[in-house]
Amino acid sequence: MREEDGFTLVDTTMRAAEPLIEAADQANGSIRRIALTHGHGDHVGSLDALNERLGSDVEVLMPELDARIHAGEEVVAGKVPGSWPTLQTKPDTLLHPGDRIGSLEVVASPGHTPGHVSFLDTRDRTLLAGDVFTTYGGTAVTNHFYWRFPLAAMATWDKAKDLESARALRALDPAILIVGHGPAVRDPGAAMDGAIARASSEAT
Ligand SMILES: [Zn+2]
Repeated sequence: MREEDGFTLVDTTMRAAEPLIEAADQANGSIRRIALTHGHGDHVGSLDALNERLGSDVEVLMPELDARIHAGEEVVAGKVPGSWPTLQTKPDTLLHPGDRIGSLEVVASPGHTPGHVSFLDTRDRTLLAGDVFTTYGGTAVTNHFYWRFPLAAMATWDKAKDLESARALRALDPAILIVGHGPAVRDPGAAMDGAIARASSEAT
């Protein structure tokens, strides 16, 4: 997301440090901040490589609870599902709902992970919803098994909270929905309503 001083990169995917830096260069900007929706390996996977390449000028922001899980703390009872790779990079800033990162507002959306947050671009109501929804072959909530992308449901920590977060994100009335897995959806209201209805009936 472009800001006056450069880009805020939201999530890093797996092994994408070079393509991400090149993309920023080509858009005549540089990556200033890396904001993470949650701590899963497929979202933080390039963080160490990016940090090495970009140096300490880049601010790394991670939701507090997920950062504490990465630090080895037991923040919730039992094992938290999904991949939690060892990170050399420590976040500079711990995110909490209500925080602002330039034009982005941090929105609580726990459930997929304990600390999961989403980012709402206050300029145009683009919502970066991480892994609360997937959009492969249609929009779905990650609280229940969806054959198009079963990994997301398998990695979800608290299914009831995840569904609650999906409803809260829908209530923000986003203009564009961007998720970790799947294409962006323009005017996503109806698709989110449908996903939430299916998720409610299939939730166990
Ligand atoms: Zn995830």
